[in-house]
Amino acid sequence: MAKGTIYIDQERCKGCSLCLSACPQNVIVMDNEVLNAKGYHPAVLSDADDKCTGCAICAVVCPDACISVYRQVRAKANVVS
Ligand code: SF4
Ligand code: SF4
Repeated sequence: MAKGTIYIDQERCKGCSLCLSACPQNVIVMDNEVLNAKGYHPAVLSDADDKCTGCAICAVVCPDACISVYRQVRAKANVVS
């Protein structure tokens, strides 16, 4: 399965939690220790087990386009005949 990661612009996040509900890997949480300039607890990636697949569902559902998705490109295997 592909590996991915995300960047969340925490200053633009309005804490709606739509991305948490949408993520099939459950690797997004609300950061209750942080308040952004708008006064919201922003979403943050919590992926210690490296489970994000880069599927981009979170980025699609975010109404404020706060999430950028990065996907790891796998090297092609060399076939020796
Ligand atoms: S890219 Fe997919 S797996 Fe990764 S955080 Fe977003 S919804 Fe979850
Ligand atoms: S969907 Fe967007 S605005 Fe809502 S919590 Fe996630 S990153 Fe923040």
